Amino acid sequence: MIETVKTLICVENALWRDSVNLVGAARCFAGKNTNEVYALTINLDDTEAEAAITSAFDVVIRAKDDRIHPYDTPGIACCVERLQAEYGFDCVLFPASTFGRIVAPQAAARLQCALCADVVKIEREEDSGGTSGVNFIRPVFDAKMFAAVRGRGDEKPVMASIRAGLFTYEGATAGKKACVREWTPPSPPPESAGLTLLSVRKKAETCDIREKDLLIAVGAGAATCFEEVRELAVSLGGAVAASRKLVDAGVADRSAQVGQSGKTVSPRVYIALGIRGSAQHVAGLQNVGCLVAVNTDKDAPLCALADMVVVSDAAAFVHALHERRTDN
Ligand SMILES: Cc1cc2nc3c(=O)[nH]c(=O)nc-3n(C[C@H](O)[C@H](O)[C@H](O)COP(=O)(O)OP(=O)(O)OC[C@H]3O[C@@H](n4cnc5c(N)ncnc54)[C@H](O)[C@@H]3O)c2cc1C
Repeated sequence: MIETVKTLICVENALWRDSVNLVGAARCFAGKNTNEVYALTINLDDTEAEAAITSAFDVVIRAKDDRIHPYDTPGIACCVERLQAEYGFDCVLFPASTFGRIVAPQAAARLQCALCADVVKIEREEDSGGTSGVNFIRPVFDAKMFAAVRGRGDEKPVMASIRAGLFTYEGATAGKKACVREWTPPSPPPESAGLTLLSVRKKAETCDIREKDLLIAVGAGAATCFEEVRELAVSLGGAVAASRKLVDAGVADRSAQVGQSGKTVSPRVYIALGIRGSAQHVAGLQNVGCLVAVNTDKDAPLCALADMVVVSDAAAFVHALHERRTDN
C-alpha cells in the first residue's frame, strides 16, 4: 500500500550541503511510497544555503531564535522533540558529523526512540505480503563488517545519522519551491543555560577533500614527502589526503583523513602512496573511479583492491611525477 512517508532532516548550518544530500537518503527510506521531506534550519543566515534548501525540500521549518546558538545541542534536540509531537515524522535524519553525533542521541533520548548511528546505506525490502521494512546498514567491528539494523516496524520516528558523501541529491525539479514555515522554537531546556558563546574564531579556509576529483593520499610509507605531495596535488587541481597514522603523527590535518573515523570520498582518481589499506582506511573509499596503489609491498591489502599497482618507493614515484609535470 502506498502511503506518505514524512522525514525530517536536521540541517547543520556549517555543512548544509551534506544535509541537502540527505534528501537522497530520505528517498531511499521512503522507497515506492510518497515522500515528504522536511528541513529544520535554526538561525541559518546564508543566502546560497537557503536557496539550495528551498529547492530540494518539500517543507522548510525555519527557526530564528538568538537563545539557540549553533552549538546548543540540548536546545536543538528539544526543537526536534517539539516538531515530532507536532508533525509525527516517520523518520528523522542527521548528518553523521560531530554536530549530528552529539544532537542525534539527545533527540533520541528525549523521544525514547532507537537511533542507528553512522549509516552508510539504506535498503527497503518488500516482502511477498506487500509489507516492507527498512534496513539501515552501518559498519561494525572497526568497519571489518557491515550490519543491517532494522526497527521493530511499529516505532515512530526511526532515527539515524548518515555518513557524508554516500547519498546525493540530484537537483531540484524545475520550479519546485519548498513551503517555508517560520517557527518559534520552544524555550531552550535548562541544560542549554550551561553554554555561553564567548567568541567565534573562523578556521583557516581548508579545501574539502570530498569535493575533489583527484586525491593523492599519503600514508606512513610516504610521510617524509607529505608537503611535496600537497603541492603536486594542488598543482594538478586536486588535494592531498591522508591515512589516520599520518594524522595521529601530526603530519597531516584531521580534515584530510580518509576512513572510518575520517571522511568518505568518491574521487575519480585516488592515488594512495605508502598506504597499507586497513579496513578502517578502505571504509572511506566509495565509488572511486580509478584507484592507484603505490607501495613497496605488492602484497599490501590495498594493492588487491587497486586498479593499478606501482611497486615502488613512494618518494621516488612522487619525484618522477613532479619531473613529468615540469617537463610538460
Ligand atoms: C577505531 C579505529 C578507527 C580508525 N579509523 C581510521 C581512519 O579513518 N583512517 C585510517 O586511515 N585509519 C584508521 N584507523 C587506523 C588503521 O587501523 C591503520 O592503522 C592505518 O590506516 C594505517 O595507516 P597506513 O596505511 O598509513 O600505515 P601502515 O599500516 O604503517 O602502512 C604503511 C604502508 O606503507 C608501505 N611502505 C613503507 N615504506 C614505503 C615506501 N618507502 N614507499 C612506498 N610504500 C611504503 C608499507 O608496505 C605499508 O603497506 C583506525 C583504527 C581504529 C582502531
